[in-house]
Amino acid sequence: MIVDLICIGNELLTGLVNNTNAGYLARQLGSAGIAVRKCSVVADDVGAIKEAVTEALRRSDAAICTGGLGPTDDDLTREAISETLERPLQLHQGWLARLEAFFERRSYPMPPANRKQALLIEGSTILENPRGTAPGSIIEHEHKLLILLPGPPQELQPMFEEQVLPLLKARRQGQILLTKTLKCTGLGESLLEEKIKTLGQWKQPSLSLVAKGMEVLIQLKSYGEADRAEQLLEAAANKLRGALQGYLYGEDEQTLAGVVADLFVRRGLTLAVAESCSGGLLADTITGIPGSSRFFKGGAVTYSLDSKKLLPGLSEKLLQEHGAVSAATAEAMARGVRDLFQADAGIGITGIAGPDSDASGQPVGLVYVAASLGSSMEIQELNYTATRRAIKERAVQAALTMLWRRLSEG
Ligand code: ATP
Ligand code: MG
Repeated sequence: MIVDLICIGNELLTGLVNNTNAGYLARQLGSAGIAVRKCSVVADDVGAIKEAVTEALRRSDAAICTGGLGPTDDDLTREAISETLERPLQLHQGWLARLEAFFERRSYPMPPANRKQALLIEGSTILENPRGTAPGSIIEHEHKLLILLPGPPQELQPMFEEQVLPLLKARRQGQILLTKTLKCTGLGESLLEEKIKTLGQWKQPSLSLVAKGMEVLIQLKSYGEADRAEQLLEAAANKLRGALQGYLYGEDEQTLAGVVADLFVRRGLTLAVAESCSGGLLADTITGIPGSSRFFKGGAVTYSLDSKKLLPGLSEKLLQEHGAVSAATAEAMARGVRDLFQADAGIGITGIAGPDSDASGQPVGLVYVAASLGSSMEIQELNYTATRRAIKERAVQAALTMLWRRLSEG
């Protein structure tokens, strides 16, 4: 089954509202094996809506429209669809009664404009909306489906999951879409592409690379008869798993922090972190994982020179000789915090997040990350010119990647 998404609303074209409905629907459909052919954003304009719907009904099995079902004059989805399908709008007495009851409960009379929300295209099946005043609807037209959903995500999402998705799944026959996302850390998009190219052509399943934050995601899409699509997807995933060892940390919903957390728990080890330029972001990322108390002993944001000296083994002499932003300081921070918290592993992060350099004159984006685990110590120097936030994220990613490599080595 192939679907078009049509997101309707002037506010989406001006950027006043982010089009989160599109991403939500694409993810939901994808995980149900339904492919999205096209996603368009159109204005609250009868002509524009007609054009998008006409194309969708010609090219796809179904069209899902979001928004424009409100009571105001600029909400034109109903009128546009009525014209496109050449089917009249009919007053739905049941919904009108519901609207009146809705306003009565709030103790004020129903504004006349809301009456419009009880107008449904002839032959529609109504979709209940316990969270709002606009009903959704499903219309069958020449063996195709047209689904109208209200714009507000808190109304659209339950309506879609409870009333639309089961129906789409039941109608989905034959060809299905399967996707798999492989997640890599520690190498850039172009290097990854080179590695992948050596494995041959990627047509079925198709492959796309997406740089997301400090990771590269490989998304495989396989479309066809269920068994065949699955076989092809698994074979391709296996080929990649083999070729990307040391970089591929997880798949689909997994996160790097989550995978690292699992490794700590499984191996019965504990962690402590000392952070300077990352300002606690590593501790925040780790404690974002449910159950992190099972391995995370704690962290210290040692931002000033004086606070760094509170870590055992980190002396004034070391700071003077090497500077606060140095491999030696990162190493001492990792070791010191590990001792202080009596943990099995320690991380030290120190660097210059900008926008200006510090008194030492070292460049913005220079960061040292040290990881101490067992008898091993690894130190990485990063040089990454970017915003403060991106530099912090890069440092956190580097620390987690170092831990992941060490812990998954066995
Ligand atoms: P209402 O009855 O609330 O007016 P509606 O179906 O007319 O519903 P819109 O008027 O188009 O929906 O949008 C209402 C609100 O829903 C918008 O202001 C916006 O906050 C949110 N919204 C609409 N479309 C989207 C979208 N594609 N992604 C995220 N939010 C959206
Ligand atoms: Mg609107």
